[in-house]
Amino acid sequence: MTARETLDRIRVSLKEAGIEEFEYESWIFLEWIFGIRRADYYMDPNGMLNPEKEAFLEEVLAKRIRRVPLQYLMGSCEFMGYPFFVDERVLIPRQDTECLVEKAVELIRDSQRNGKEAPQVLDLCTGSGCIGISIKKLCPKAVVTLSDVSEGALEVAGRNADALEAEVSLIQSDLFEKIRGKYDYIISNPPYIPTKVIEGLMPEVRDYEPHLALDGTADGLFFYRKIVQEAEKYLKEGGVLLFEIGQEQGADLTEIMEKQGFAQIKIWKDLAGLDRVVMGRRLTI
Ligand code: GLN
Repeated sequence: MTARETLDRIRVSLKEAGIEEFEYESWIFLEWIFGIRRADYYMDPNGMLNPEKEAFLEEVLAKRIRRVPLQYLMGSCEFMGYPFFVDERVLIPRQDTECLVEKAVELIRDSQRNGKEAPQVLDLCTGSGCIGISIKKLCPKAVVTLSDVSEGALEVAGRNADALEAEVSLIQSDLFEKIRGKYDYIISNPPYIPTKVIEGLMPEVRDYEPHLALDGTADGLFFYRKIVQEAEKYLKEGGVLLFEIGQEQGADLTEIMEKQGFAQIKIWKDLAGLDRVVMGRRLTI
């Protein structure tokens, strides 16, 4: 088949499968599988494609039509400009989560300017490792630990740390269960979707992403409560607890943190103007 015929075939298949971004995705498929970028395509739209690659296209297109996320098929997802390996064992890094990393990096650099050169950072519920690894890349002197309850997720995180040459430690732990010592920063994007809401999410998320990484139980706040309750034991004086939240969880989490005695609670918005990041500081009075 020619490039034009193939592009049309991809476009139509994705559209019929109800994939909203079918236009954008069909170009990604063409580049990923055949190495043909838009500019190459327009130079030679009637060029014949490699039949072996066409067979691979059929294989992955069949999966994509069943709404397997494109990132799982490609085995990669860009986050903070770094390529992260992903598969069904981890949540696909979201652009929203870049706000959490940007805020963490800003706070860590501030404290580095104020004399804390090598802050201890814990990324709790790390999944693919995208948060902690990006922080380590951007603040190389920080001492970063990644933890997750899922062995599979930790394998993915370890693979990403190696590939991106980030020197981090990995701990398999159910929240703080195996965590020892005290940290300057505890950063987490825990599961926060209320169980009932999951049913209504896109099939890519609902049917393929690990529910362990999404399900925040009935009200979505289960992990925030648990983490906030225990965090003070693992935070140094002045230490910071920093969370990603769902857009409607800011007030609830503020209350949870205030009750637990956290100070300087702040909420920041993401690029869409929605509440996305919450921080609190452990100060003993
Ligand atoms: N932001 C993710 C979503 O909307 C959920 C992430 C999480 O639960 N931590 O799918």
